[in-house]
Amino acid sequence: MFCIKCGTQLPEEANFCMKCGHPQTPVVTQPPAEETQWEHCKIDCIQVKEKWSLFGKEILQFVARKEGCPDHIAASKTFQLSGFEIGCPSEKSKLHRTTLQELVDQLKKDSWEPSETRPSVWYRLQFRRR
Ligand SMILES: [Zn+2]
Repeated sequence: MFCIKCGTQLPEEANFCMKCGHPQTPVVTQPPAEETQWEHCKIDCIQVKEKWSLFGKEILQFVARKEGCPDHIAASKTFQLSGFEIGCPSEKSKLHRTTLQELVDQLKKDSWEPSETRPSVWYRLQFRRR
C-alpha cells in the first residue's frame, strides 16, 4: 500500500505513514448512541399450585414481568400438568414449550421484541419494547 497523503510505499498493515505520519485508516466516527429508553421484561416460570391427587396435578405459570417493577405483569400463561405429563418428560416439555410460545406470541402482539441476551435458562427469555 501507499501513503494516502504523500505516496510513500508502506507495509500493508501500517496505520501511519513512516515518512509524513499521516494516519492510513480513516477515522470511523461512531453514530450517536441511541437515546431511546427500552422497557425490558423477563419471563419466569412459577409454580402456582401443587395439588397431588391420584393422578397428580401441578399448575404452573409463565409470567413476563417488567424489569424494575416486578408487580407489573406484561403477560402470563397458566398451564396445568397432569400426572401423565409429569410422568412423561417429553410430554411435559412439549406442554412447556407450546405454552411458552403462546406467551411469546402474546408479547410480540403487544409490540415486545426479543432482546439479544441469551437466556441462562431456556424459558428465561428477555424482551424489550420502546
Ligand atoms: Zn506519507
